[in-house]
Parts: sequence; C-alpha cells; structure tokens
Amino acid sequence: CAKNHGRGVHRFFEPILAAQIRDRRSLEHDLRHAVERNDLWVVYQPQMAIDTRVVVGFEALLRWRHPERGTVPPDLFIPIAEETGSILGIGEWVLRETCREAASWANPLRIAVNVSAVQLHAPGFAELVHEVLFTTGLAPARLELEITETALVRDPVRALSTLRRIKALGVRIAMDDFGTGYSSLSNLRAFPFDKIKIDRSFIRAIDVNRETAAIMRAVLGLGRGLGLPVLAEGVETSAELAFLGAEHCHEAQGYLLGRPGPITQFADHTGEAPGEEAAAA
Ligand code: C2E
Ligand code: MG
Ligand code: MG
Ligand code: MG
Repeated sequence: CAKNHGRGVHRFFEPILAAQIRDRRSLEHDLRHAVERNDLWVVYQPQMAIDTRVVVGFEALLRWRHPERGTVPPDLFIPIAEETGSILGIGEWVLRETCREAASWANPLRIAVNVSAVQLHAPGFAELVHEVLFTTGLAPARLELEITETALVRDPVRALSTLRRIKALGVRIAMDDFGTGYSSLSNLRAFPFDKIKIDRSFIRAIDVNRETAAIMRAVLGLGRGLGLPVLAEGVETSAELAFLGAEHCHEAQGYLLGRPGPITQFADHTGEAPGEEAAAA
C-alpha cells in the first residue's frame, strides 16, 4: 500500500522492506541448520526458595550463536523458529539436552524447560516428553514445563488434553509470564498448572510503586486460594526480594540471585565437581 502514497514514498520504503525480508529469510535458513552446526546451547538460571534462600532448580534458556551475526536473542529467533516449524526440532533438542544434563547432577534439583505453543500443539508431544524422560532416566517430578497463556488459546481443547497426559507422567506444569496474556484467571482454573510464574514487568519497582505492589499481593492471594506456589521472575534488587519475602512469595528468579550461565558455574548447587564431564570424556 506504500505504492498508493506516491513515487517518493515507494522508492524510499521498498529497499528497506526488501532488505528486511532478505534478512529474515537468511535467519530462517540459518536457524534450520543451527542444531546440526552446534550453534545452539543452553544456559541455566537458578530458582530460589525465598524463605530458605536455597536453590531449588534451574530454568533452561536457549542461546544461538549465529556464524556471522554473533549471539541472537531468543525473543528474536524463537518467533521465527515457530513460524517456520524449526522450533519442533530445536525444542526437542533443548528438552533432551536439559533432561540429560539434569539427570547427571548429584543433587536432584528441578529443571524448568520452556515449551512453545507450536510444540504443545504438535501431535505426539506428550509421547515425546515420555520418551525423553525414559531415555535420559530423569525422574518425571524433576521436570517442569513452562507454558505461556498465549500458548493455550490456539486450541484450548487440544492443549488441555496434552497437558493432562503430560501431568499423568508426573511432570509439573508452570504458567509462564503470568499477567501479560489475557483471561488469565479462567486459564488458571481450567488448566492443570502447578505453579504461577509472575512476569518480571510486575516485579520492577514493586517496593516503591503502590499499584505494582497491589497487583503482586493480589496474585499471591490468588495463588494461595488456588493452592499454587508463585515464583517471581526478574528479581534484580534486594528491596524487591525483601518485599516478596514479606508477602510470602514462594520462589524467586532474577539477576540478583544469578544470571543465566553455563551449568558448570552452578556446580555448588548441582553437586557436580566442575570439569568432571571433561575428565570422564
Ligand atoms: P522467559 O521464559 O520468561 O525467560 C525469562 C527471561 O527473563 C530470560 O530471557 C531471562 O534471561 C530473563 N531474566 C531473568 N532474570 C532477569 C532479571 O533479573 N532481569 C531481566 N531484565 N531479565 C531477566 P531470555 O533468556 O532472553 O529468554 C527470553 C524468552 O525466550 C524466554 O522468556 C522464553 O519465552 C524464550 N525462550 C528461551 N529459551 C527458550 C526455549 O528453549 N524454548 C522456547 N520455546 N522459548 C525459549
Ligand atoms: Mg520461562
Ligand atoms: Mg517468563
Ligand atoms: Mg517470556
């Protein structure tokens, strides 16, 4: 429709648009080969019980090092992988990689893995989870799948049936980024969640902003009423952590407690001696 606005506009926009499309195509193409090329890796971010200050688990976060562009953030490449379907292969790789990793720890901590809407709706996803647990030997109760509300809306009936089958394996389900989607309240009742992860946008300035604090208290009350523990994402300051502790929030995750990093960095918690894998190889 830029064409309708005259030649000048047309000439100005078209090369930019063309470049953007080329850029996107090349990213799509490169993503398809990222798994085989070993350009993907997983970093781990600790999750802490607020009352005891003990690390209870880790969230697995995917990273992509593009051969020419360097590190591309997941918020940019996951949507592309979802559109092209690459997320199926990539997501399976992440699940297998993280379950294998967690199964090797001396301490049986929890591992949380993000699952995209495309994976959740793909035929055989529950069977895949079952097979990966069997193959890696990870106890099902140690696996937690993080699902956003928006992942449920595509086909809620199918999503519910898949989530029920996953739960029947003994795997836990967390609602990720709570508060950023819509119809959150009914989703919490309709789907078998074990935990609420409140989005980090609600944590920021929690200690100084009355409205933010009120929302946080309401979510914690909701969690209590439904019998669901609440984890606060994106905790960056000790004031935020103190507020959350005073309000009986169960768990926290954020830069204050640890940035995402290679699992060897957290050997104190996993109980692995650093470099053990290298020595065994
Ligand atoms: P998410 O699942 O909500 O993950 C939390 C994000 O918040 C991560 O961003 C993490 O690095 C960031 N974060 C943690 N603590 C703090 C903090 O204190 N301050 C700030 N500013 N940020 C913090 P990341 O790693 O860039 O991942 C972004 C999103 O990409 C994730 O959001 C998730 O939706 C998606 N993602 C990451 N890995 C995977 C994956 O393996 N599969 C799928 N489907 N999605 C993934
Ligand atoms: Mg997550
Ligand atoms: Mg989140
Ligand atoms: Mg997110």
